Amino acid sequence: KYRCRSAFKLLEINERFKILNPGLTVVDCGAAPGSWTQVATNLTNANGKKEGPVGRVYAVDKLPFYPVEGATVLGNMDFTNIKTQETLNKLLQGDKVDVVLSDMAPNASGIREIDHDNIMLLAYAALRFALQISKAQSTFVVKIWDGGKMQQFEQNLLKFYSSVRAIRPDATRDESTETFFLARRFKGLKTS
Ligand code: SAM
Repeated sequence: KYRCRSAFKLLEINERFKILNPGLTVVDCGAAPGSWTQVATNLTNANGKKEGPVGRVYAVDKLPFYPVEGATVLGNMDFTNIKTQETLNKLLQGDKVDVVLSDMAPNASGIREIDHDNIMLLAYAALRFALQISKAQSTFVVKIWDGGKMQQFEQNLLKFYSSVRAIRPDATRDESTETFFLARRFKGLKTS
């Protein structure tokens, strides 16, 4: 049913922390082949399969990927490109987002420090965007590969979110060094 086993990581995070509910608006970064998008459209009811509020899901990847029913799928779009973020902003029409997900990962070089640095750049790009488009009290979930910049990242998340925790889903393979940060209750940006 799911396009890849990554789905179970998001399902597990959701089971523990209930982050995806009917009616919510979600941006899914690094979404191909689309299993998190499938999970998000079901849980937010973006596909309208259940009664109750209908959510919205926008899924972005630099690779092309097949449509997911109920989601707006943006393939061939590099998230770090300003044009991609402008496209998302246009689609949102000024509406703010409840949940930003980033499962983005660079192609691994096998050199740990390089891979860590590269995924941190993606994580910061997702965070910067999340800060601009999120509602107060919203949620941000981001994958990183462990390394030296992890602690500072967590500190930065705490500046903007009231609650931050590091999660290693059981669905993550043992040998993997990936961690998901779950940042909840966005404090909102002070506008002066
Ligand atoms: N969450 C997805 C799912 O459940 O189907 C799996 C995501 S996979 C682990 C990581 C994805 O990040 C890849 O599809 C890759 O193309 C994407 N990615 C890496 N760099 C990106 C970028 N700059 N912009 C958009 N997507 C990117």
